[in-house]
Amino acid sequence: MKNAEHIIEKALKENRKFLLESESKDICKLYGIPVTKFKVAENLEEALEYAEEIGYPVVFKIVSPDIIHKSDVGGVIINIKNREDAEKAYHKIIENVKKNKPDARIKGIFVQEMAPEGLEVIVGAIKDPQFGPAIMFGLGGIFVEILKDVTFRIAPITRKDAEEMLREIRGYPLLKGFRGSPPSDEEAIIDIMMKVSKLIVDLPQINQLDLNPIFVYEKGAKVVDARIILE
Ligand code: ADP
Ligand code: MG
Repeated sequence: MKNAEHIIEKALKENRKFLLESESKDICKLYGIPVTKFKVAENLEEALEYAEEIGYPVVFKIVSPDIIHKSDVGGVIINIKNREDAEKAYHKIIENVKKNKPDARIKGIFVQEMAPEGLEVIVGAIKDPQFGPAIMFGLGGIFVEILKDVTFRIAPITRKDAEEMLREIRGYPLLKGFRGSPPSDEEAIIDIMMKVSKLIVDLPQINQLDLNPIFVYEKGAKVVDARIILE
């Protein structure tokens, strides 16, 4: 795996304003942030081979420098259970993208492990022109989109900041476990927040980072989608 600067430089040279999910996840990995297992396939044969290698069920996603919101164009198919489904999903994604965004360049299909369901949270980083990078935390889905239940701190954040951030969102009781759902691994979230803080301070070429969603479990957490937007 190349280093983070290298990945960013390559994108900038190609005049890209955002990194592919695979590149964003490679950078996460370099910082020790847990991400889904993945491989980028350039054709059907490779996609089937990687699906086998990673192990069903898998998820397929479009790889395109022109598509930032993959599911908006039908570019994500989850829970692919076997080779036959995988072949169908491969063709379906390409068909969807050709229909919904005909001018998009298709670079391949992103094959990744299907992460088991967990509590969805979001960790992000965004640059404020005046204060520099800030770290964001919230619960995923309606909590962020409708209720705007998120919290921010200027980076770098301390461990104490991260702990406070978890506790100050209104949805915090959900992390504690709710109606039979198990409590979430708060330590795993704090760890990701601290690593994101280091990443955003280290890499000034990044304007925005979104780990959305992260699935959190009773033990551990996994980044399911990662997006990095460049300056
Ligand atoms: P988008 O670019 O549209 O944000 P995502 O990569 O976030 O696409 O995928 C859309 C949704 O599909 C995610 O919010 C998540 O619910 C589900 N998903 C994506 N990847 C995985 C995965 N590896 N395992 C389980 N669910 C996934
Ligand atoms: Mg997403």
